[in-house]
Amino acid sequence: MGNFILGAYNMTKANGYRKIPDPVDTMAAEAANSVRRLSSAEARRCDLYSGPTVIAPPENMKAPCDADGTATRLERARKSIDETASDGGTPEAEQPDRNSIDKFAIAFDIDGVLVKGGKPLPASIDAMKYINGDNPYGVKIPYIFVTNGGGKTEEERCIDLSRQLQIEVSPGQFICGHTPMREMVEEYQTVLVVGGEGEKCRVVAEDYGFKDVITPGDIIKSKHDTTPFRKLTEEEHYDSRSRNFDESTVDAIFVFADSRDWAGDQQIILDLLMSKNGHLGTRSETFDEGPPIYFSHNDIVWSTSHEHSRIGMGALRTSVEALYKELTGKELTTVAFGKPQLGTFGFATRLLREWCKETYGIDQPPATVYFVGDTPESDIRGTNEYNQISDTEWFSILVKTGVYQDDKTPQFPPREVCEDVLAAVKFAFQRELGEDS
Ligand SMILES: [Mg+2]
Repeated sequence: MGNFILGAYNMTKANGYRKIPDPVDTMAAEAANSVRRLSSAEARRCDLYSGPTVIAPPENMKAPCDADGTATRLERARKSIDETASDGGTPEAEQPDRNSIDKFAIAFDIDGVLVKGGKPLPASIDAMKYINGDNPYGVKIPYIFVTNGGGKTEEERCIDLSRQLQIEVSPGQFICGHTPMREMVEEYQTVLVVGGEGEKCRVVAEDYGFKDVITPGDIIKSKHDTTPFRKLTEEEHYDSRSRNFDESTVDAIFVFADSRDWAGDQQIILDLLMSKNGHLGTRSETFDEGPPIYFSHNDIVWSTSHEHSRIGMGALRTSVEALYKELTGKELTTVAFGKPQLGTFGFATRLLREWCKETYGIDQPPATVYFVGDTPESDIRGTNEYNQISDTEWFSILVKTGVYQDDKTPQFPPREVCEDVLAAVKFAFQRELGEDS
């Protein structure tokens, strides 16, 4: 059934989300059991929709890859979660790989753990080789990526990571901050989508199934004095869509990715939050009639190539809440997804459980999932708290290559601190399998 996220995310929002068949999943489900390799450099948009697909960097196209079977089964497990019960055609399970291990798995954060400033961190490529069988134990284990990063589809993010880490990564292995937003497409008709580069987040939202997506650019194009100091570039003006905002209301605001223009975006967000029922140009007298606002995660800072952490979406959320209170005297209720929301970890557990079922016929997740992250407030906190309520052991490992720089004791202490992702992976193997034999 496709209602796992629905259940999981009820923890953050009381009213239920409805699930509709996703075009990507539906098309993928219709596809045969075969896996098609796709060059990351040559992948076209339409190629990403005819899956099941494993993305391979060009240099690996002819090389045997240990990750192939695991990634394929994880992708099928992901589809099994997403498919509705009426969808038939469960693919036949492959013979499990004798060298695969089902007792533990690793979940990776991406920014600050594997990648920094768009480039792979030095240890990350060796760490990927290690978990794919290049280790003294001669085994490979399942792994997934759980990132708060967004602004691209899971499929596009997968292409980026395949290229950066020189491995095959399956879209089925990805859980993004904005993944749960696809469960809300039937609830809201017209939505404002904020953040990301150019039109990318509108494209993601429309891919998810949102029917009427507007951007801040559309609003500025239609009424240029909405943001006195922000002028659209020629390209933005061309891409933005004209419409008569007198005749439409915005039913919800979704911050999909980091804002590229805080001043303009905050002005537009606040205009809507203070409006009567999302009708631009109006002002509520009671300031409790505006549309809801959702953020795909709540990370205050994130790690880039700069020597110090940079402020992120959680900072924008804090700022919008503070400004709303300053302007209206009222508290603003906002919702954030992503880590450390426990629904995200629940989805990851479900994904790994499906993987075990398909691979070994065992209807339970790996006994232990190691989560490797760099942000105590999201990665470590979420892992530790989910461990309290989960039958699966979730073991937190903090690495020093990102937000955390070993200069203070983190507020949310990890079970283990490692120098980098390779050390983290080696620690997990040793804890599970003992000394090298
Ligand atoms: Mg991170």
